[in-house]
Amino acid sequence: MSFDTLGADLLARKEASLYRERRTLQSPQAPEVLVDGRRCLAFCSNDYLGLANHPEVIRALQDAANQYGVGGGASHLVNGHSQAHHALEEALAEFTGRPRALLFSTGYMANLGAVNALLSKQDAVFEDRLNHASLLDAGLLCGARFQRYLHNDPESLAQKLARTEARRKLVVTDGVFSMDGNLGNLPELAAAAKAAGAWLMVDDAHGFGCLGQQGGGCVEYFNLGMDDVPVLVGTLGKAFGTAGAFVAGSEELIETLIQFARTYIYTTSMPPAVAAATLTSLRLLREENWRRDKLNALVGQFRKGCEQLGLTLMDSFTPIQPIVIGDAARAMQISQNLEAQDIFVGAIRPPTVPQGTARLRVTLSAVHTEEQVDRLLDALESATR
Ligand SMILES: *Cc1c(COP(=O)(O)O)cnc(C)c1O
Repeated sequence: MSFDTLGADLLARKEASLYRERRTLQSPQAPEVLVDGRRCLAFCSNDYLGLANHPEVIRALQDAANQYGVGGGASHLVNGHSQAHHALEEALAEFTGRPRALLFSTGYMANLGAVNALLSKQDAVFEDRLNHASLLDAGLLCGARFQRYLHNDPESLAQKLARTEARRKLVVTDGVFSMDGNLGNLPELAAAAKAAGAWLMVDDAHGFGCLGQQGGGCVEYFNLGMDDVPVLVGTLGKAFGTAGAFVAGSEELIETLIQFARTYIYTTSMPPAVAAATLTSLRLLREENWRRDKLNALVGQFRKGCEQLGLTLMDSFTPIQPIVIGDAARAMQISQNLEAQDIFVGAIRPPTVPQGTARLRVTLSAVHTEEQVDRLLDALESATR
């Protein structure tokens, strides 16, 4: 069989300005990075608190590698569940105020695993139409009746919930929408779910570390408990600066995942040293409030600057600050212009975002400086002129 049909699809993607290419990073993740041999100022990582390259986190990883070696060596249910994993699970349970937490190797796998463990053919899943791809994939793969509700719209959700006779009902939403930066309307979504006897699952990949006094994310921000949000997912590759993910909830939920979540059972545990490093980043994330304060100040500075430039921002107070451009080719052009000025901002295009809403996804980090944000604003002024 020839690969000619693949070539045609690749060409079509190129012609639509939707072709993706990778850059090669030659430095740690930081505001200033070395990319393909060039020093750039980056505004596109999810390292919101600057912990990915923190000396104490690195040291914890090194020490744990000396103690546990590198590979997890086996799945958790065979003999890959180390003391380092266990200690992190207990710390994450305490952090989220829930009886248990369970580690997964990635956020994508946590979402696939949780939804598939909870639902099957007799059930129904309700998803925000702008949910992260991993949540949509999870809902589509689990075999339950899959329904999307209007973005962040509790009434649209309630209408759909009222019409189902499914055995189990699961409502699934991002805590902070990853391409827009706005928060899920969790109090109202939780009320709608509860009224219909449905469970609410929140994936707070971008809220943990950034929102709430202690970095407890959307549920801390909205002061919601386990009866509002019974299934809470966090990822460790963003504000935590490491890798992996967790689900936090009741004893029954976590035991169900251990028994039935295939992405938990049939995969090697994350390297134990990564779990040990995350224990250190969790401490920094909770204790160092200055990181959240600094981030908020930079977000304010950036938004004010954009307003003065007449740029269209989205309704977001999180470190995700997309500038809406619309046309994919135009978004690429601006991103390339910024790159020529040694500034690295990702252009996000369909199908990652809806048609006609291509955007520059600017993300800020607590370790950016005010001067660096000013440099970005200057570069944006000339690139969008
Ligand atoms: C990044 C992200 C994930 C995936 O997490 P990984 O650990 O990178 O696989 C899941 N959900 C949301 C909302 C995300 O932004």
